[in-house]
Amino acid sequence: MSQNRKPSFLRSPMGLASATVVGLLVVLAIIAPPLWGAQASTPNPANLLRGPSSEHPLGTDGLGRDLLLRTLVATRTTVGMALIATACGAAAGLLLGALPSVLGARAQRWFSAVINTWLAFPVLLLAMLMVILMGTGTVTAVVALALTMTPSFARLAQTLSSKVGGSEYLAAARLLGVPKGRQFTHYVLPNIAEPIIVNVTMSIGGGLLALSSLSFLGVGVQPPSYDWGRMLSEGFEQVYTTPTAVVGPAVMVILAGVSFGMLGESLASFLRERTRGRALSPAKLGPAPVTDPLELDPLQEDVLLDVKGLSVSFPGADGWVRPVQDVSFTLHRGEIVGVVGESGSGKSVTMMSVAQLAPAGAAVTAQRLNFDGTELAGMREQVAAKAIGTDIGIVFQDSLTALNPALRVGTQLAEVPRVHQGATKQEAHERAVEALDSVRIPNAAHRATLFPHEYSGGMRQRALIAMSQIGKPKLIIADEPTTALDVTVQQRVLALLRRECEDSGAAALVVSHDIAVLAELCQRILVMYAGRIVEDVDVRMLAHPEQLAHPYTRALAASLPDLDTDRTKPLATIPGEPPDLSKPVTGCGFADRCALASDRCRTEVPVLVQHRHGGQVACFHPQDGSSPEDSGAAGSETTLHEAHEEGAVA
Ligand code: SF4
Repeated sequence: MSQNRKPSFLRSPMGLASATVVGLLVVLAIIAPPLWGAQASTPNPANLLRGPSSEHPLGTDGLGRDLLLRTLVATRTTVGMALIATACGAAAGLLLGALPSVLGARAQRWFSAVINTWLAFPVLLLAMLMVILMGTGTVTAVVALALTMTPSFARLAQTLSSKVGGSEYLAAARLLGVPKGRQFTHYVLPNIAEPIIVNVTMSIGGGLLALSSLSFLGVGVQPPSYDWGRMLSEGFEQVYTTPTAVVGPAVMVILAGVSFGMLGESLASFLRERTRGRALSPAKLGPAPVTDPLELDPLQEDVLLDVKGLSVSFPGADGWVRPVQDVSFTLHRGEIVGVVGESGSGKSVTMMSVAQLAPAGAAVTAQRLNFDGTELAGMREQVAAKAIGTDIGIVFQDSLTALNPALRVGTQLAEVPRVHQGATKQEAHERAVEALDSVRIPNAAHRATLFPHEYSGGMRQRALIAMSQIGKPKLIIADEPTTALDVTVQQRVLALLRRECEDSGAAALVVSHDIAVLAELCQRILVMYAGRIVEDVDVRMLAHPEQLAHPYTRALAASLPDLDTDRTKPLATIPGEPPDLSKPVTGCGFADRCALASDRCRTEVPVLVQHRHGGQVACFHPQDGSSPEDSGAAGSETTLHEAHEEGAVA
């Protein structure tokens, strides 16, 4: 039993040996100076330059001091200097590399430029510069070494923290208004700590060798102080009379350097094993002055969210990729609206942009993005995020990546009461337990103290719903909230989401590729295809596919099984692929898969217009026998049935 609890790196011979040697070095560094310090420093003219003997196993130096005792006593100075230099280098590197992950894209660019310049600076030149500026000595050696270590730690921290910077749990923390300092200490640092610790351990060995070299060259520790490097330098002066003078410090330098390196390697392989056994930053909303906002319709009072002309672009290898183009919709207070579409249709990017959580590098523009009476379009990202406060709650798709693995679930839920409601630690914890209890997590008080990986998938998703609710938001954005769950758990989570919205009066935007999920939960459906909304329709219409207007929506509805569905046959699918949005799409994005496509469909983009089913549709040939005047399309004689016959919609 106890064998199993032992950390596995101590079970490997290399790990055990290196940990033992490092442990002994630490003990020596603590006990040697008080025990033998005075004896090792006091000259003894009677014992000058003696060879090895039982009294002096390594002999004595030119002042008659015992070389073995001096070697042991020098452990503190040598190891201590290496530890301090590495700790300073690692701390500075961490700040430089990891801090920008919570400061935004501009800070990241600046810090990156500093790190690159620093890395390009020759190490030797830096050390010499330090000697010129500060003179020779222990402090100079430590500062020079710390400065040379800083950029490599910064680069490592930058790489590691970039993953955390794009993670959903940090995005959620930003949305919850967690202060930047706390984001850094509670969200970034704990999640990059392990590889950094491994690297620090390895670097101590390298640092120890470097410091010994500096002392050996005469620019490090100066007499009467001494470290192993200094002893090596002095030992070489008497190497012909007392060769053992260099043996002690040389063995210790090699032993300590190799042991720290091996310990780091053992830790690294232990962490790799453990990992085998068991990643949005706010984007700017730039104004898109396509239409003067004053020309837009005035807002209605019961409208919570009004989006007009929202577009999102990313720089790609061959130009701009436009996953969201000219999206417009409204959401009323308390309304639950579904957003459906295939992967890559732009549904998640649209909703995350609304919440100011567009992926890093995205260029977001909108003519109007009015949330609860506040116009967010054109606001700076921090201002917009502050304006939203806790009024938007997010339920992410992957509950494992949406929760900070390094924080207990209760602590994460308690962030909002602590940050926004001025609750004490105890009050915030009680609120977190209540929230977990409200989403029916059994034994909530105990479970609040567990880490995310100790929850089941369904329970984590419920914890995310509790987290999205704890700030009493006016809008909940749920991004594929049930995709990772099995069917039974899916039903419970959907019911819970609906109940939470009904109880709190919050509106919800629920993103899913599964129209059956949305049919159960929502009142209205927005159908997205190739970055645009193609139909906005009452969910009850899904039961009457013949009244749906857009061929793509009809095909989606046809995939919904009902009581008459022949379960022995595969469900209907839509042949073909969505267009590649990294290239300009001319005309209707669905044209290549649509049997009804006309010349006009291939040259002109259909825009959303009112339709007689009460919603809106963007199609030149709507498929319910109507021919909306607004679209200006010539009425199509082709029916969906005929399209099926032609094989365009299977
Ligand atoms: S009929 Fe034309 S506009 Fe309508 S979906 Fe087909 S291609 Fe697009």
